[in-house]
Amino acid sequence: MREVQADIVIVGSGAGGGTVAKELAPLCADGVRIVVFEQGPKLKDEELTGREIEMASRLYFDSGGMLTHDRSMTLAWARAYGGSTTVYTGTSMVVPEHVLKKWDVPGLAWDDVRRRSEKALAENNVHLLEDELINENNRLFVAGCRALGYRVQQFPINVKGCHGAGVCNLGCPNGAKQGTNRVQLPLAERQGVQVVTNATVTSVAKRMCTVRVRSRKFGEPSAWEPGEYIVKARIIVVAGNAINSPALLFRSGLGEYLPALGRGITLHPALILAAQHDHPLTNFFGFPKSYYSDQFRDDQRFLLETCMYYPFTTAKNLNGFGEEHEAMMRHLQFQQQILVLALDEPLETNRVEIGHHGEPVVRYRLAHTVLDSLHRAMIEAARIFFAAGASRVHVPAAETFFVKREDQDRLEALVPRANVRPGGISISSAHLMGGCRMGADEKTSVTDAWGQVHGFPWLFIADSSLFPRCSEVNPYVTVMALADRVAERVRERFKELGS
Ligand SMILES: Cc1cc2nc3c(=O)[nH]c(=O)nc-3n(C[C@H](O)[C@H](O)[C@H](O)COP(=O)(O)OP(=O)(O)OC[C@H]3O[C@@H](n4cnc5c(N)ncnc54)[C@H](O)[C@@H]3O)c2cc1C
Repeated sequence: MREVQADIVIVGSGAGGGTVAKELAPLCADGVRIVVFEQGPKLKDEELTGREIEMASRLYFDSGGMLTHDRSMTLAWARAYGGSTTVYTGTSMVVPEHVLKKWDVPGLAWDDVRRRSEKALAENNVHLLEDELINENNRLFVAGCRALGYRVQQFPINVKGCHGAGVCNLGCPNGAKQGTNRVQLPLAERQGVQVVTNATVTSVAKRMCTVRVRSRKFGEPSAWEPGEYIVKARIIVVAGNAINSPALLFRSGLGEYLPALGRGITLHPALILAAQHDHPLTNFFGFPKSYYSDQFRDDQRFLLETCMYYPFTTAKNLNGFGEEHEAMMRHLQFQQQILVLALDEPLETNRVEIGHHGEPVVRYRLAHTVLDSLHRAMIEAARIFFAAGASRVHVPAAETFFVKREDQDRLEALVPRANVRPGGISISSAHLMGGCRMGADEKTSVTDAWGQVHGFPWLFIADSSLFPRCSEVNPYVTVMALADRVAERVRERFKELGS
């Protein structure tokens, strides 16, 4: 094993890790050696082809289809330079004050999170898309919501020079979407931070971690030769996401000191819903996600967003096979889509563990309240589709593949709650949260309000695993805000440690 000396190691280059790298980068001018390890590749610009299957396998872990232990949900996250910011859509929301109150973390004030979130919004060029660039898929959602008197709001988004290719979740081929791969990491690298790709941190311990570097047939070669390394460092910041960070700490034997490790994950369980119009729409072209509705956030506990997914993802989300499925897929251009996100509670039973080989295992039981939310959401989304003029709607839990326009008044009867059951419909998640919760109590949380792991002054967490409950909005801005806070404390701790 080769041995390398560093001062600060950051595990993961996504929303959390990339932000910490950028914030700590000025230290490099004083000779501080900062290394970011990222297990995924850095694709060359020409390798971002927008082709669904190819990009899914190159950018996503398990091609985006990691299953929960009971196989009732798929979990999507990117394993790449920039982490999931490489594939996120870029909707940029500040966590609401009422959510931070529910989080109830002593020492974590909403004003502080808001201020740091606004810093991230400015860095990432967040703005509202100009009206003339909104496509029909989005306009129809607005029209449907307004016809029914539902609240509908425009998403602030973080693109710069968007060509409307519509393949945000496959890595933007035009470099328009702002993520840590475009903003924070290049800034950090210019100041002297080293980002080592294709490098998996296999364990962490006091003042050191072990790293395995591999080669791949695609992407830029890693800055380090393939092989096994011991890397000495005074501070380690773990930012591998809500699944990998708890798993890494378990693999490192820290589970016995941290009773809350891996516990209380939330996932915003999601459904992709589709309807057919009787004429082609601009749905694949243009920015895919410009509007949302929080009309049902407080009582029914779900959000509705616009979306437009690619052929394979759409096909696997339709419930059923045969002629009707084929008819729906052959008329993709006629499709309108809506994404549903259920706002789930952090149940103690929902947690990350590790398997025999140290790999993450996600135990997540879909609570009845979540299934209730998904049921109501299907019915409300169908109403919006019909109000927008759809001729037929695919409601995954309906008795028939399509609900026809003339049957829209019978939605309640045609979509029985009993059909909404784990394994019966295609549920996924791209918002992974919790597992290393912030808090004051060592029995119920893993870190303090500044991301330092209880009892381990050299170890920090800086990613979505810090969330004590779900964010009730799209989470990346909050991840960046918390990472900015963690970086501030890491800087102070580094000074305390001296040379
Ligand atoms: C398809 C998709 C669309 C999304 N759209 C939006 C959106 O529009 N708006 C929004 O707010 N949020 C969105 N999100 C969610 C958002 O991207 C995440 O919440 C955010 O990126 C999480 O940040 P993170 O730092 O926790 O993890 P990530 O950004 O996922 O980064 C973690 C990185 O750590 C690396 N890593 C893990 N373990 C190790 C290890 N042991 N060694 C080395 N490297 C490791 C991983 O490979 C990964 O690259 C989306 C997510 C997806 C998947």
